[in-house]
Amino acid sequence: MSVFENVSFDDHKTIAFHQDRDSGLQAIIAIHNTARGPAVGGCRMWPYRNEAEALTDSLRLSRGMSLKSALAGLPFGGGKSVIIGDPTTDKSEALWHAMGRFVDSLGGQYIIAEDVGTSPADMEIVRRETRYVAGIAEGGSGDPSPATAWGVFVGIKAAVFARLGRDDLKSIGVAVQGLGHVGYELCRLLAAEGVVLYVADINRAQCSRAAKEFGATPVSPDSVYDLDVDVFAPCALGAIINDETITRLQAPIIAGSANNQLAERRHAECLSKAGILYAPDYAINAGGIINIAHEGPGYNQAKAFDQVSKIYKTLLEVFSHAEVNGITTDAAAEYIATQRLESAIKKAA
Ligand code: NAD
Repeated sequence: MSVFENVSFDDHKTIAFHQDRDSGLQAIIAIHNTARGPAVGGCRMWPYRNEAEALTDSLRLSRGMSLKSALAGLPFGGGKSVIIGDPTTDKSEALWHAMGRFVDSLGGQYIIAEDVGTSPADMEIVRRETRYVAGIAEGGSGDPSPATAWGVFVGIKAAVFARLGRDDLKSIGVAVQGLGHVGYELCRLLAAEGVVLYVADINRAQCSRAAKEFGATPVSPDSVYDLDVDVFAPCALGAIINDETITRLQAPIIAGSANNQLAERRHAECLSKAGILYAPDYAINAGGIINIAHEGPGYNQAKAFDQVSKIYKTLLEVFSHAEVNGITTDAAAEYIATQRLESAIKKAA
């Protein structure tokens, strides 16, 4: 397993490996960059098939965090940790203590948070070993989902303005895929603005709840792609923008919270050719990490949400850069984020 020749290696600042035999912990912390501040990023626990797969994921995700925080203008670098293990069977209190000590050993270069396969309860144990933990309930900023939903809501407004020339959402049709922590809260915000809502979730009870509470029309998880709506808001899975769904999507706008929405990067080009405006996922779903940036003894939710509202302006900048330069919105977001990152690197040098 070569680290420096890995396709996802991007001059990462530090990559730390740790094994704790007593608890069975095998973990990697990848720090992509700290020029803008400490590397903040979640901890993913996943039954990776081997170390190489875990390493690649940590390299790719930590770089993604650098770009996300830079685009949002946050004083954070990018990092991510991965634990090789099955979150349903391999968790133990000892494992989280060991992970906490691992994070602490890096002296604050990396700040851990929850992610796929990990929970706020796990982070509470990590916190007993290190103060470098973000997004916890007690003394922290709590569940990031409402902030993420608020960011997606203002992001939808920006996309509707850019693509449809409308600065309100009244009677706009929005299909929300996934009614979990983010999607359900997003529906609440959209319903209050007079949006015509369509909702899909594999959990039918959530759809019935949204129908009752917001007057939303439930549709099946598969038919959500075919709806004649203005906005498709993916808030469940990644890779839902692919060769098959692009031919089916009727919506002129895609704007939702899901991570890694494009199955492959080339799909950004396909969307652009199909006349669909895509709000890049890491630009529109940055509300949670912006909220974390406000964490601390004087945490003020209203102030944090004010900053989340800036996602509106960021997206307009991304859309305009894409249009002026004849590139995809995905490429435009990456360009702007990279510029911000490089200017921080120059300043830090
Ligand atoms: P969640 O697990 O609470 O909700 C996901 C929902 O999607 C669940 O209700 C689930 O039943 C539904 N779902 C799963 N498969 C589906 C399918 N095939 N069709 C329709 N619905 C399906 O997750 P969440 O915290 O709401 O996050 C949603 C997405 O946003 C994820 O991709 C997540 O990575 C991303 N995201 C979340 C945050 C946050 O603050 N929670 C921040 C950034 C990005």
